[in-house]
Amino acid sequence: MTHKIAVLPGDGIGTEITEQAVRVITALGLDLDLHTAAVGGAAFDLHGSPLPSATLELAQNSAAILFGAVGDWKYDALPRESRPEQAILGLRKALGLFANLRPAILYPQLANASSLKPEVVSGLDILIVRELTGDIYFGQPRGVRQVEEGPFKGEQQGFDTMHYAETEVRRIAHVAFQAAQKRGKKLCSVDKANVLETSQFWRDIMIKVANEYPDVTLSHMYVDNAAMQLVRAPKAFDVIVTGNLFGDILSDEAAMLTGSIGMLPSASLNSSNQGLYEPSHGSAPDIAGQNIANPLATILSAAMMLRYSLNEAAQADRIESAVQAVLEQGLRTADIYESGTSKVSTSQMGDAVLKALK
Ligand code: NAD
Repeated sequence: MTHKIAVLPGDGIGTEITEQAVRVITALGLDLDLHTAAVGGAAFDLHGSPLPSATLELAQNSAAILFGAVGDWKYDALPRESRPEQAILGLRKALGLFANLRPAILYPQLANASSLKPEVVSGLDILIVRELTGDIYFGQPRGVRQVEEGPFKGEQQGFDTMHYAETEVRRIAHVAFQAAQKRGKKLCSVDKANVLETSQFWRDIMIKVANEYPDVTLSHMYVDNAAMQLVRAPKAFDVIVTGNLFGDILSDEAAMLTGSIGMLPSASLNSSNQGLYEPSHGSAPDIAGQNIANPLATILSAAMMLRYSLNEAAQADRIESAVQAVLEQGLRTADIYESGTSKVSTSQMGDAVLKALK
């Protein structure tokens, strides 16, 4: 079966890291139909838009998108709709990518990279499932208005709206329960139900959906406690499911537990398992073009792509084992280097993963 994949390298280190991921998936012996297109600042420079219609069409007509990163400080003065980051929001919206899966895995070989004690984090393997298209980030109305009454009457006031519809909560719940079924069968739903009506509603729906997954143990935690538990005893979690706002913050916190943003893949899926796969980090303009960026997050994102969108789990396992093997060999890009290991470049890391593929 031919798998059509859109490759969107983007800006900064995006080009260097996607190049390595493409080398790896091309070596697997699968029938891949790869198409590359500009996105982000690179697309703005070429076509005047961060998400040109040809790029969007390609993405829509592909089984999966392998995405590098977008953004550069040089675009900061552009109006919001022309900024590189709008490309990601546009793709999420057009493809209905409502489920964001972010694993936080700390390979034992990298336990010293974490700012936490090695025994607290070594072997960490958790998955954060974040709802991505709803919540206060998209709720209407929003804006700036004049306060009509109360102590601030007459002043300007910024405001946003938090809401979740039942379908939105149900579909992310199903993604999370099914992910938990394939892992440790524990799901923790994070909310702020003691204060927010939206969160109480979210919790009620989670409890209803749980009836369909008797093999998964559902627990609930307030977001402030979850933020604490993630640094106190992160290995107690298996899968965490949460809304867009809380998930944004907790997934970055979980990422930092591992000590290297250069190691963390992510997937954003819609209801037909079409997905966008990208490293959790940005375009790192400070190190772009130097062949020193860590390509492993992107290579691991490609593995997630094989598992979730292309139904090629065995090939995903091959890539993940190869990444383990290169770490075992002591090969490290600058971001994860420590004395006693061997520092390699972006392309040398790609070479090593290719060589380690079994
Ligand atoms: P960043 O993730 O790009 O970089 C943060 C730090 O981590 C930098 O010091 C960088 O050198 C380092 N880093 C990141 N990825 C690395 C890798 N693979 N290997 C080694 N080191 C790596 O975040 P930032 O500096 O806040 O943002 C830079 C640009 O990226 C901004 O324009 C921002 O808007 C954009 N951004 C894009 C995305 C995305 O495309 N999804 C996500 C976050 C930020």
